[in-house]
Amino acid sequence: MATMLAMPPCAPGVPIEAAAVRALRDALGSENVLIDDAVAGHVDPYSFMGPETVAPAGVALPGDVAEVQAILRIATDHAIPLWPVSAGRNYAYGGASPRVAGSLVVDLRRMNRILSVDEECAVAVLEPGVTFMQLHARLRATRSRLMPSVPDIGWGSVIGNALERGFGYTPYGDHAAQLCGLDVVLPTGELVHTGMAAKAGSPAAHLYKGGYGPSVEGLYLQSSFGIVTQAGVWMMPRPAAAAACSVQVPRSDDLAALVDALRPLLIDGTIQSNAVIGNAAIVAAAIGERADFCEADVPIDDDRIARVMERFHVGYWNARFGLYGTQALVDARLAAVRAAVSAVPGAVLDVRTYPGDIDPAAVHPADRAQLGIPSLDMVRVAAWRGGQPAHTDFSLVLPPTGREIAVAARAIRREVEAQGFDYAGGFTLFPRHAIGLALVAFDREDDRHRPAVRTLLPRLFDAADAMGAAPYRSHTAFMDLIATQYDAGDRALWRLTSRLKDAIDPAGIMAPGKQGIWPTGRSPSN
Ligand code: ADP
Repeated sequence: MATMLAMPPCAPGVPIEAAAVRALRDALGSENVLIDDAVAGHVDPYSFMGPETVAPAGVALPGDVAEVQAILRIATDHAIPLWPVSAGRNYAYGGASPRVAGSLVVDLRRMNRILSVDEECAVAVLEPGVTFMQLHARLRATRSRLMPSVPDIGWGSVIGNALERGFGYTPYGDHAAQLCGLDVVLPTGELVHTGMAAKAGSPAAHLYKGGYGPSVEGLYLQSSFGIVTQAGVWMMPRPAAAAACSVQVPRSDDLAALVDALRPLLIDGTIQSNAVIGNAAIVAAAIGERADFCEADVPIDDDRIARVMERFHVGYWNARFGLYGTQALVDARLAAVRAAVSAVPGAVLDVRTYPGDIDPAAVHPADRAQLGIPSLDMVRVAAWRGGQPAHTDFSLVLPPTGREIAVAARAIRREVEAQGFDYAGGFTLFPRHAIGLALVAFDREDDRHRPAVRTLLPRLFDAADAMGAAPYRSHTAFMDLIATQYDAGDRALWRLTSRLKDAIDPAGIMAPGKQGIWPTGRSPSN
């Protein structure tokens, strides 16, 4: 519980005026307004900023749309910056901590109703507090035909993850692409409905994104333009059969050939999910103990990686993906996968097949994500360096080509190891892009680790920039820096979104600084 946590060291912010706290408590009930030390549970649990960690001045937990609108009125009257979160589990990127000190976090976890599940059209309508765990449990309990897509850790919000462009590992793994028909409270307090949901009472409200006129749903992804209070989420009908595949290659230099073998299968739809390629170090961080392989502060090297590979029977690089359909379709897809993988020297393909209606307990832990079963297994990677567990993530957008990915892997490893950390991570391949991930585990209490993380991230961003690449997502501490790297046309897109910001949020109270977008005159660099 938030109230039981000790307050970590934080940057002091402007406290919320007593009159505003009173108004919030009148509107929401006192138990739903947290201030002072009660906000500790909403401070970045993996912060590397030490005493400069940005903490909220307060937390408001609305129970419905009317309460969200009341918060907006009060925030406008008292010029309080807001920071909406759904479950607030965006760990490694800042958790629930806001971009500016003195903010009021609007935590939507109490709005956690599954409003409908349409088995015919395979769509659920959810409030933002619904977690992947909760949705999965409901679908099991009701013997639903639908299979959710889940990210690495299942405790977060389905909507929060999608809005931040998170992803999972089934054919519906591009979570933002599954949102259809949003309800959004604008910074002015007005409630808007997007796409077909703009037609009152439309039975297609969550089935057709287009509606009539310009599409605005994208305005609410990674944005400071509104608070999403419900959304349609498309889901995959549970297939009759599924195959969880892994391909292991033995050498560091095999990465390019592996990527080039998988990409055509992703583009032509043979592989329907993404293909996530992890190195041996990320496998070790997920299931091993660092002390069994490494001395305290020396980055894991290839000799130690060889020991990891032997101990856990994994490759240097390990690709995982799923095949789905009737058994005949899965078999046909598998034949094409076998043929492609056999062309990669040293590659080994392992396959486990499952019926669509399998009991989650019978699924191998490594296959859960491909079968839409949420878990908390990956939480333990934060403990890889011992001490006070923490990690930060670096997520780079690349083309899914062996050439570019091999270059990126070398550059990321060089930078991560230069700061004394292990390169644990890999590349998630989609048909037309890849996300390069470095998951940097550190000890939050270690006085060398925190500054090393603060040095490392900008160096990774620079290394990405030199490749013409950039991250798609950012820790709050680096939102401005990454925004400057999206520099085409002298930052023409940023100028456009900044103009929209002023028009949509005239009081400048909604998530100022989110993704480097500020109300005019409020940026720290002004
Ligand atoms: P999760 O718990 O799924 O990891 P969070 O709730 O931490 O996700 O949300 C991640 C980020 O997405 C937030 O920091 C915020 O910028 C944005 N976000 C989340 N929920 C909403 C929402 N309902 N409306 C607008 N933005 C949101």
